[in-house]
Amino acid sequence: MSQQQILSEVFGYDQFRGPQQAIVENMVAGLDALVLMPTGGGKSLCYQIPAIARQRLGHGVTIVVSPLIALMHDQVGALHEAGVAAAFLNSTLSGEEAYQVEQGMLRGDFTLVYAAPERLTTPRLLAQLDALFERGQLSMFAIDEAHCVSQWGHDFRPEYRALTVLHERFPGVPRIALTATADALTRDDIVERLQLETARAFVSSFDRPNIRYTIVEKRDSTPQLMRFVEREHEGDAGIVYCQSRKKVEDIAHTLADAGINALPYHAGLDHKLRQKHQDRFLREDGIVMVATIAFGMGIDKPDVRFVAHLDMPKNIEGYYQETGRAGRDGLPAAAWMAYGLQDVVNQRRMIDESPASEEFKQVMRGKLDALLGLAEATDCRRVRLLGYFGEQSQPCGNCDNCLQPPAIWDGTDAARKLLSTIYRIQQMSGVSFGAGHVMDIVRGKSTEKTSQYGHEALSTFGLGKEFSELQLRGVLRQLIAMGAVRVDAQAFNTLQLTEQSRGVLRGEVAVQLRESSAETARKPKRSARLSAVVKAPIALDSDALLRYSALKAWRAEVAREHNLPAYVIFHDATLAAIAQRAPGSLEDLQGISGIGAKKLEAYANEVLRVVSLT
Ligand code: ADP
Ligand code: ZN
Repeated sequence: MSQQQILSEVFGYDQFRGPQQAIVENMVAGLDALVLMPTGGGKSLCYQIPAIARQRLGHGVTIVVSPLIALMHDQVGALHEAGVAAAFLNSTLSGEEAYQVEQGMLRGDFTLVYAAPERLTTPRLLAQLDALFERGQLSMFAIDEAHCVSQWGHDFRPEYRALTVLHERFPGVPRIALTATADALTRDDIVERLQLETARAFVSSFDRPNIRYTIVEKRDSTPQLMRFVEREHEGDAGIVYCQSRKKVEDIAHTLADAGINALPYHAGLDHKLRQKHQDRFLREDGIVMVATIAFGMGIDKPDVRFVAHLDMPKNIEGYYQETGRAGRDGLPAAAWMAYGLQDVVNQRRMIDESPASEEFKQVMRGKLDALLGLAEATDCRRVRLLGYFGEQSQPCGNCDNCLQPPAIWDGTDAARKLLSTIYRIQQMSGVSFGAGHVMDIVRGKSTEKTSQYGHEALSTFGLGKEFSELQLRGVLRQLIAMGAVRVDAQAFNTLQLTEQSRGVLRGEVAVQLRESSAETARKPKRSARLSAVVKAPIALDSDALLRYSALKAWRAEVAREHNLPAYVIFHDATLAAIAQRAPGSLEDLQGISGIGAKKLEAYANEVLRVVSLT
C-alpha cells in the first residue's frame, strides 16, 4: 500500500498537508529528520504513516517517545479507532498490564508503542529493544516534543537528555524528532543534544493564520476577560491562563458564577480532581479551563476556540505554544492577552531572583524583552511573532493592530519627566522609590509619602500634570521594556536608571506609544436561536444544523462508551460535512474527510440511522 493509500484508507484524508509527504518519504527511506511544524500542522501523521509503511515492509515496531503520559491513552485510542495496532508503556499501567504490552511488542503485535522518556531509558526496556534490534524488528524512533531536551526551550525535561542513548545503542534506526516551537537557539540545541547533525530539517511556516491575536492593556482584568468571553465566545471551549493557583481558583469561581462552564486546573489540586477536570475539558463541549501553565502541554483537543492570558508568559516561545492550543482544527480561533506594568515587574523579578547563572539570566531577559516588544507593538503582531522565529511576512489583517490600527502618541516628553524624576529622587534622598510614588511626583499629586520625604520640593513635581496615570504607566512599561528603567527586585521593586536612560533623557531616543484604546467595539450577539445553541464549523441550514446536533449527541455517547474524547471518534468538521451531505447510503459517506476504512466499517450504519431519524 502506498503512503497515499495509507493516508486515505486508514486516516480518511485525501491529501498530505504541507511538508508531510516529503517527511513521510524521508522516514520510509530510513533517514533521520528534524520536524518543526506549528501546533495543528499535522505532526502525528509524519511518524504514524511511516510507522505503518515500514512495518508492512517488515521493519517491525516504531517507538514513540512522548512526555505526555496523560495523553498517551487518547493517542493510542485514536489509533485504535483508525484500526492501527498500538499500545503505550507508562506508569499508569499495572505491572501485569505493562508485561502484556512488552510481550506483545516482542512478538511484533504492534505498529507503534508509545513510551515516556524515563521509561524508555530503563535497563529493562532497553534490553527488550536490544532483542528487537538484533532481529531487525526495531523500525524507527519518533521523539515528540523534542524541545524538551533543551533548557532554552520552554519545557525542559532532564529525562530527555538520556535519549542520546538511542543513537548510540541502535545505530541505523531512523529517528524523527518533532516540535511545535523552537527558536534558533533551541533548534541548534536539539540537533546537538540528540545528535541529529545529519538529519534533514523540515521547517514549516510557523504561521497559524486562523488565530487572531489581540493584546489589550490590563485594567480591571477580570471584567475584561468576562466581556471577551461573553461577547465573542459564548458556549465555546477555551483556556484561560493565570500565573498563580489562587488566581486560577478566583477566576474559575467568578466565571462559573456568571454562568460560564468554567473549571480550575493547577498543580495544587488533588491529582484525581485535576484529572477529572482535564477529562471533562477533553470530553465535553464548551468548557472553559482556567489554569496555570501546568495545563495544556500536548492538549490536542482540536476545537479550543480561544486561549486567554490574564498574566504574561515568560517569553514568546511560551506565548506561542500556549496560544497555539487554540484552533488546531484550522477554524477561526482567538488568542487574547491582557497585559500591564505589573506583569513586566513580576517577570523581571522572577528572572533576577532565580538562582540561575548570570549567563542564563541574560538570555532569559533577552527573551522577555522580545515578548514585551510584541505586547507594546503598534504594528502587525503576526509579523513580529513570525519574525521572532526567523520568518519574514506581511501584515496579516487578522490581529488587533491590523484590524484597528492603534492611534500613536509621542511619549518622549513624559518619558523624560519620569526619568529625571527618578534621577532627582535618587539625588535628594539617596534611595530609589517604586513606580507609584514616581508617577505621583510627576503628576504633582500630594501624598503622605511625598510630603514625608520632601519630594514636593523637587523641580519635577507636577511637571507632568497633563498626563493621566494610565498614560504614565504605559510610558513606564515601555521604558522598562526598552531597558531604560530597571526594576530592582532586591529593593522593593524600586526604579533605577540604566545606561540606556541617557539617550531618552537627552531626547535622542523617541518613545512611541499606543494610545490607550478602549476594547474592541461590541459585537452583535448571534441572533438565530438554534445557532446560539449549536455552533457548526461551517455554515449549515437549519435542517443540517438539526442533523449536526443529533450527530454530536450520538458521538458523545460513543465517546463515553469507548472512554475517549469525542474528537477521536469524529472531528466537528467531519460531523458537519456529514450533516451537510445528509447521506442516505454508504456511498454518500465515501470521500468525507476524516472517515477512514475502519471508521466507515464501525460507524457508517449508526451514522446513517441518526441522519435518517432527523
Ligand atoms: P500537531 O501534532 O502537529 O499539533 P496533529 O497531528 O494533532 O497536529 O494534527 C492536527 C489535526 O489535523 C488532527 O486532527 C489531524 O487529524 C489533522 N490532519 C493532519 N494531517 C492531515 C491531512 N493531511 N489532512 C487532513 N487533516 C489532517
Ligand atoms: Zn496583523
